[in-house]
Amino acid sequence: MPLLIKNGLLVDPVSGESRRDLLVSGGRLAFPSRNSPHPPGCEVFDAAGLWVFPGFIDAHVHAREPGAEAAETLASAAAAAAAGGVTSALLMPNTSPAMATPALLKKYVRRAAGLPSNLYFSAAATAGRRGLKLSGLAALKKAGARAFTDDGSCLPRGLLAGLLKRAAALGLPLLDHPEDFRRTGGGVVNAGPAARRLGLPGIPAEAEYLAVLGDILAAASSGPVHLQHLSLAASVAALRAAKAAGWPVTGETCPHYFALTDADIKSDDANFKMKPPLRSSADRAAVLAGLADGTIDLVASDHAPHEARLKARGFRSAPFGITGLETLAPLCVSELVLKKVVSKARLARLLCLNPARLLGLKKKGRLAPGFDADVTVLDPRRAAAVPERFVSKSANTPFTGRALRGWPVLTIVGGRAVYRAPVR
Ligand SMILES: [Zn+2]
Repeated sequence: MPLLIKNGLLVDPVSGESRRDLLVSGGRLAFPSRNSPHPPGCEVFDAAGLWVFPGFIDAHVHAREPGAEAAETLASAAAAAAAGGVTSALLMPNTSPAMATPALLKKYVRRAAGLPSNLYFSAAATAGRRGLKLSGLAALKKAGARAFTDDGSCLPRGLLAGLLKRAAALGLPLLDHPEDFRRTGGGVVNAGPAARRLGLPGIPAEAEYLAVLGDILAAASSGPVHLQHLSLAASVAALRAAKAAGWPVTGETCPHYFALTDADIKSDDANFKMKPPLRSSADRAAVLAGLADGTIDLVASDHAPHEARLKARGFRSAPFGITGLETLAPLCVSELVLKKVVSKARLARLLCLNPARLLGLKKKGRLAPGFDADVTVLDPRRAAAVPERFVSKSANTPFTGRALRGWPVLTIVGGRAVYRAPVR
């Protein structure tokens, strides 16, 4: 059934804000004509006071299937995405076994079909994700891979130039988790006052920065690279300089790096443990500046669900990572738009247009006639606390209880309403 979204504030990354109605019909977007605003049999959604965005595209999600289905599955990740206003998500390949063969990839691409959010798969850039030789990248592309990365591990320096050239030749993005693991050592939290206060081993800034510099220098001569989850002022500065030099580098950050610092870690609570770790207030300020001036291309959740019993082990032995799909929208609205760091249109670049471009999704990322009918409607007015439980199977988040605005109220994927906020 066609759906008419009336009275909302439309936010397009290119044309900006406009007050007009939006028609969702036949899986495509359209603007209703003045003569016949109501197609026959059309459902009407009153979006008065609400913000209507192109569907959010989250380029960094761990769905944990196969291997850790107690934490998340494709089905629960897709449902969590829909509840978070995320209409498309790129899944990371560090599953168990790793998403590293065409047969495995095909199996899970099939399994993801028909779920409430579009799930796209990245494939391991190195064979078995072991970092010793290149994967069969062409065969992985043929099996459905949308990107290559060894996320969780850093792309091996010795293979980097070859990987960049092969990915560029295949026309797929190469994503790197920039971390020099020798520098990380046994660190579990940012090296600095918080590590000393909590008596925990620190992760130095160089662990991220040296890998970022290596990626950028390789990209300058060998092909495009996308830097995942940037957390440091130095990384943002390096990305800015690379872009000024005209080198093919893009970068993402995650909400926790602009919403929190390591000073927010008050106790040995592993719901604050992720990689890279929460940094200093100067780093946070630089990430915000990078989002404001366009240096950072996109915001991704790095949704990394873990079972509560594993996170209960504390900083020293719990796994790294926090959930993010269902807090992505309200953290971006509350911390970026309502605090006037970025405009609504820039937020639409960060969450819609730029990730669509990275992943080659030509008909996604805009509210324009003929584009895919993926739409995210947010409520900027009502503040609500981050709940203790999510649609996701896991709730390992440092944001529990934090009052935020900008929660999704309606998510449309391919013309189908896949999430409606419960009436309160
Ligand atoms: Zn990573």
